[in-house]
Amino acid sequence: MTLLPSDHLETCLFCKIAAGKIPSRKVYEDDQILAFHDIQPWAPVHFLMIPKRHIASMAQVGPEHEALLGRMMALAPRLALEQGCRPYPEGGFRIVTNTGAEGGQEVHHLHIHVMGGPRPWLRG
Ligand code: 5GP
Ligand code: ZN
Repeated sequence: MTLLPSDHLETCLFCKIAAGKIPSRKVYEDDQILAFHDIQPWAPVHFLMIPKRHIASMAQVGPEHEALLGRMMALAPRLALEQGCRPYPEGGFRIVTNTGAEGGQEVHHLHIHVMGGPRPWLRG
């Protein structure tokens, strides 16, 4: 079952951001999705896309999330261009979702990193 942000509001950083309890630099918002700039960017463009409803990671994703994740992935190219990524193929962007400790996940609310812009990048 997908829990509402309020179920995790005390403990989850990105639920707090989704609820506006912690400020973020917003890139995009609709009824299901929030995108905001990463606080420690690796690249000239680096924003995160999250579902507003708490999902801990990609490991919890199932068939019931197909529409939501499809919507997020289909939105990413548009937001990347709006945020300053140059067009494919000279430009482009990188999409990363760290999952679990060995996947390098630090915040346990599903998020998609979208990174791009002129190289070199700070990391990655
Ligand atoms: P992870 O390592 O879980 O894939 O990525 C978590 C990301 O969240 C990191 O890139 C980190 O910089 C970012 N982050 C952590 N705390 C905050 C915050 O309070 N605000 C914003 N905008 N980003 C954050
Ligand atoms: Zn959460």
